[in-house]
Amino acid sequence: MAFDFSVEPEFQVDLDWIDQFVREEVEPIDALFPGHGLMYDKQNEASQKLVRPLQQRVRERGLWALHLPPNLGGTGLGNVKLGLVNEILGRSSFAPSVFGCQAPDSGNAEIIAHYGTDAQRAEYLQPLLDGKISSTYAMTEPQGGADPMNFTCAAVRDGEQWVINGQKWFASNYKYASFIIAMVITDPTVAVHRGASMILIPKGTPGMNLIRSVGLSDDRPGEGSHGYLQFTDCRVPFDNLLGEVGGGFKIAQTRLGGGRLHHAMRTVAVCKKAIDMMGERIVSRKTKGAPLADQQSVRHAFADSWIQLEQFRLQVLHAAWQCDQHGYDKSREYIAGIKVATPKVTMDIAYRALQLHGALGTTNEMPFGQMLLGGVALGLADGPTEVHKDNLARKVLKSYRPSKDELFPDGHLVSRRAAAREKFGDLVEAELGGW
Ligand SMILES: Cc1cc2nc3c(=O)[nH]c(=O)nc-3n(C[C@H](O)[C@H](O)[C@H](O)COP(=O)(O)OP(=O)(O)OC[C@H]3O[C@@H](n4cnc5c(N)ncnc54)[C@H](O)[C@@H]3O)c2cc1C
Repeated sequence: MAFDFSVEPEFQVDLDWIDQFVREEVEPIDALFPGHGLMYDKQNEASQKLVRPLQQRVRERGLWALHLPPNLGGTGLGNVKLGLVNEILGRSSFAPSVFGCQAPDSGNAEIIAHYGTDAQRAEYLQPLLDGKISSTYAMTEPQGGADPMNFTCAAVRDGEQWVINGQKWFASNYKYASFIIAMVITDPTVAVHRGASMILIPKGTPGMNLIRSVGLSDDRPGEGSHGYLQFTDCRVPFDNLLGEVGGGFKIAQTRLGGGRLHHAMRTVAVCKKAIDMMGERIVSRKTKGAPLADQQSVRHAFADSWIQLEQFRLQVLHAAWQCDQHGYDKSREYIAGIKVATPKVTMDIAYRALQLHGALGTTNEMPFGQMLLGGVALGLADGPTEVHKDNLARKVLKSYRPSKDELFPDGHLVSRRAAAREKFGDLVEAELGGW
């Protein structure tokens, strides 16, 4: 077995090009259009005027929609290489849009590509792939998101139509979306994992109404892009079903596996940015006549951040490699592992960077508050940390068996020594003495 952390020279050329392009061409757009969600607003002429030519350059370079296979308009890089790209793109909130791999559109495109009919692909997938529209994924309900058994939003078949009633909560970017993919109950008589389906609902369908747009805590009151939705006798054609009736959770697994991986990859970039800013600040700013970095505790904060990111980055790349080798379904413990690590590493590093910038770090003149809040959100979006830890432990614990002895563990040194003595005792009896 060979371990080699280098990449092919041609791919390194691409990575270097992406790095320079993001720093010089894309990050300035973040500075002009700050705030949540603006990269999803395809109707915003001002930002799109800057974004579209950059998207064209990415296409010409053959780097568009790298998460998708070639037959769907992507380049099919595989997750490890995608990880190396995403750990650059994550520096910038507009970069994933410029490269055609913006969540949740990337995940939504993936599932329509996998499970959609030709008609669905033409109507929903193609404009998504072309970067012309945005989309929303609506699974969570106001009465509880972590436990799908609480879901009640339901679709009932009426001839050639579905009739949908219920509510959805925190449908991100609904404000900018042209359609939503909703997980709805289609058979309440069986377990939710077999009784839920995915349905495509175009924006503007009568009966699908926005109760309000919910904002994050740093949005101004009344602002925000997370849709709280009401469905009242909302009718869509039966053919808007994505995949099979009852197949909702299977599809969600495809979507969320890749999505969680991509979030973690982009988080590497966010943390690297915070560490770079921390490094620059502590060698620039002086206290007691010397740079902050002359203080041991400051150096430790920097070192802890560097080590944490190094560990996380390797964990993410390894999880990506597992997914490439064995698929998302068989790599669930690795995906859960990075899902749990992502918010923690973000919050730890963003917090240290903020602290070392003093009061300036807390302001809206620096990105650390948003990074911190981003970390908090990543511990909830796509399921809370506790649930993923639990799933991870359940899966890994399947390979463990109870100890042979009820009272003492198999690793108990007394019994191990007795067994070793039985095996080798004759040969070393004299040397062991009383032991
Ligand atoms: C920024 C952001 C974007 C989001 N985008 C979307 C989206 O686009 N589409 C969508 O459908 N949803 C989205 N969500 C919602 C997200 O999926 C839910 O917040 C998440 O599944 C948790 O559901 P809940 O908020 O109802 O928390 P609850 O289910 O009420 O849980 C609350 C808390 O209880 C604890 N808890 C719950 N269950 C357990 C358990 N089994 N063991 C131990 N502790 C537990 C956890 O601490 C959890 O955070 C988003 C959330 C955020 C923050």
